[in-house]
Amino acid sequence: MRRHRRWPPRLAAVHGFDETTEELGQAILKYAEERLRLDPVPLDGPRTKEQLDAVAGETITPDGMGGLPALRLFEEDLAPACISTDHPRYLSFIPCAPTEAATLFDLVVGASSIYGGSWLEGAGAVHAENQALRWIADLAGLPPQAGGVFVPGGTVGNLSALVAARATARARHTGEGPRPNKVAGTVSAHSSIKSACDVMDADLVGVQVDERQRLTGDNLRRVLEAEGPEQFFAVVATCGTTNFGIVDDLASVAEVCREFGIWFHVDGAYGGAGLAAPSVRHLYAGIEHADSFIVDPHKWLFAPFDCCALLYREPALARAAHTQKASYLDVLTEAPEWNPTDYAVGLTRRARGLPFWFSLAAHGTRAYSAAIERTLEVTRFAEAEIERRDYLEALREPDLSVIVFRRLGWTPADYHAWSDRVLAEEFAFVVPTSHEGETVARFAIVNPNTTEDDIAAILDSMAGPA
Ligand SMILES: *Cc1c(COP(=O)(O)O)cnc(C)c1O
Repeated sequence: MRRHRRWPPRLAAVHGFDETTEELGQAILKYAEERLRLDPVPLDGPRTKEQLDAVAGETITPDGMGGLPALRLFEEDLAPACISTDHPRYLSFIPCAPTEAATLFDLVVGASSIYGGSWLEGAGAVHAENQALRWIADLAGLPPQAGGVFVPGGTVGNLSALVAARATARARHTGEGPRPNKVAGTVSAHSSIKSACDVMDADLVGVQVDERQRLTGDNLRRVLEAEGPEQFFAVVATCGTTNFGIVDDLASVAEVCREFGIWFHVDGAYGGAGLAAPSVRHLYAGIEHADSFIVDPHKWLFAPFDCCALLYREPALARAAHTQKASYLDVLTEAPEWNPTDYAVGLTRRARGLPFWFSLAAHGTRAYSAAIERTLEVTRFAEAEIERRDYLEALREPDLSVIVFRRLGWTPADYHAWSDRVLAEEFAFVVPTSHEGETVARFAIVNPNTTEDDIAAILDSMAGPA
């Protein structure tokens, strides 16, 4: 431990480790430990603003309520109004089920006052984060110079990659005619791709999917040739679509991108983790050609929010696009070291890759592969159970760990009533989704603590009327 700091008395009211802080520290560590020990954790559920006003009252006052009462308020009234994303029957959206090691180390990161934006200030943290990024780059087969940064989420990751792609295309644009401003992607691409294009005032051009609902090189080529390939600065493929977990045909898409010299971005925010699972690794063939790639460790790699790994094949291109320049930053930007902030939108950053790094370092990569395989095993069980039950029908065989299925005879209102009921009972959190206008049920299984029994119990709950 380093030296204790001494604050001038005026600041001692809020800074300094006095007896009150000591007591608060113990209470907070105890709370964190107990939360981690809960098995299972309560699912909890939302409350209305009126309900929360009634129990919490006005929390911000001139004199403060004191740390212990504020903690008690959080524990008794606020935390129960937040659904636990790590509950084994939380199968909506994409759950977040961090390892205990990652969550515990998040406390350390919070206590350490690390600035993760530059090597000068955060060398030790950046070094560790970069090793975790390297593991992912190796899984994808990216070359030795590949590198990047941990950003808050897939949305910022996709945006940052597309900004780098467009800057690269524009720097190379020498001929006459408009500068490239189009992105090619499918309707199954995540909403953040459209959102990134809107932010950038770029045009997202839709490509038809094949009969297996994948983006393929052939369909991509048709669109590029019809529109004029020189107008495109990026193609977005997805490895693990959010709604179905579909992996696009990356190899054929990569080949067409190479042929036309267009940046190949792969969005693996959810599904990228499957690279570490031998049973599905073959689905990702071609990913090694990606110019940029993202995966969210807060989805299927057991890290707490908020954590997206963004990787570039040629980081120098991203650096040229993203480095902020100002006299007060010269000492950083003129240094040759790796400054994470140069590779994405944003300047100040938490060393948010560290909880993921710590857990990976502690458990080893084999444990990660095993945990991902376990979720795939439970997904295969779900598939077989849906097949076996005459009131259920899968829409598609799952590529990864998302499965979408019908409850025969149910109306949209039935799906919603059932979903609301099981949440109110704190039994499960499974919201319906829709496909081509039809309301359907969907499981996203990324929590290794979700068991076959959990799946069977949820499917049982759909047997009767909603
Ligand atoms: C979740 C997701 C995103 C967005 O990631 P956030 O971390 O929520 O910003 C992007 N793409 C895909 C395929 C996703 O599943």
